[in-house]
Amino acid sequence: MKYYQIDIETTEAGIEAIVAKLMAAGIENTVVADPKDVAELMEKKESYAWDYVDDEVAARMEEAPVVTVYAYEEAERIAAEEAVATLKEEAAAGIFGNGVDLGPLEPVVTEHDDSEWQDKWKEYFKPFRVSRHIIIKPSWEEVEAGPQDSVLEIDPGMAFGTGTHETTSMCIEMMEDYQKVGDRVLDAGCGSGILSIAAAFLGAGQVLGVDIDHDAVGVARENIRLNHVEDVASADYGDVTEGIDYQADLVVANLMAELLCLVTPGIYRHLEPGGTYISSGILLEKEEMVATAIREAGFDLCEIRRKGEWCCIAARKPEGAQA
Ligand code: SAH
Repeated sequence: MKYYQIDIETTEAGIEAIVAKLMAAGIENTVVADPKDVAELMEKKESYAWDYVDDEVAARMEEAPVVTVYAYEEAERIAAEEAVATLKEEAAAGIFGNGVDLGPLEPVVTEHDDSEWQDKWKEYFKPFRVSRHIIIKPSWEEVEAGPQDSVLEIDPGMAFGTGTHETTSMCIEMMEDYQKVGDRVLDAGCGSGILSIAAAFLGAGQVLGVDIDHDAVGVARENIRLNHVEDVASADYGDVTEGIDYQADLVVANLMAELLCLVTPGIYRHLEPGGTYISSGILLEKEEMVATAIREAGFDLCEIRRKGEWCCIAARKPEGAQA
């Protein structure tokens, strides 16, 4: 669908005035990019939602506030431009007080077609080797593989897990080193299903992927079928904070640090003695926190790997532990 993006640069004082003016003109489809919000977000860096915020966001702190209107109709675009023009005249006439600066108030209009960008990311998702023996291949690409290689096809849809993220690739590398043939594997937070499929390729006896996102469960099921591993692997709705009814030899959990700390004791209970726990999605600065939670739950730490700003921890439930 085609639409207009109308960016209106303003000042801290102008945001409310613009949004009110647009609303009065019947335009409610606005987004405010306020550098002050970014500054507040930076202060809450420890909070749960932070880990996946892009660095680019921090750069925005330097910029002026912008109110953006998304208009799907020509008439709406014109109404938005008129509303801003009126506001500019009112500001110049001193209605908001003498010397109050509402910024340039010059709408910048760009035209988009969302059917274009919906698939844009596909251009950048190319086949690649994720571990010694596994090659990831977007379902719409072709690839040549060696005799030792398994090709894992993936169409992530809206789910997380193309394998390009360090947190995912480290899980696969660790699984290649720690998983044993015949293992029962739990993939906690399966997203696209990529780790469940990798587990099946690595010789798992049985794999269950769970996710709280129903769409992800659907995508994971699709990808499991695409890779012909449905005899071994399945995906289902499941919330790891509430416990999963599954006894495993290996649990792989690519979640976030705080969530990992929360669910680690439960995962310990779901693992057989001698079983392996691979946890990922951990920012380097949270490595110690998660490692401590893992040790305190009774695990022995095996190894910590780091890539970019992320780390992945492998741990083992002691052989002599109670099942
Ligand atoms: N395993 C994939 C996806 C990781 S993203 C990969 O490694 O690439 C993390 C996934 O965990 C998301 O799909 C999210 O929906 C899911 N998730 C978050 N909290 C969860 C919970 N409490 N229980 C189960 N899944 C959860």
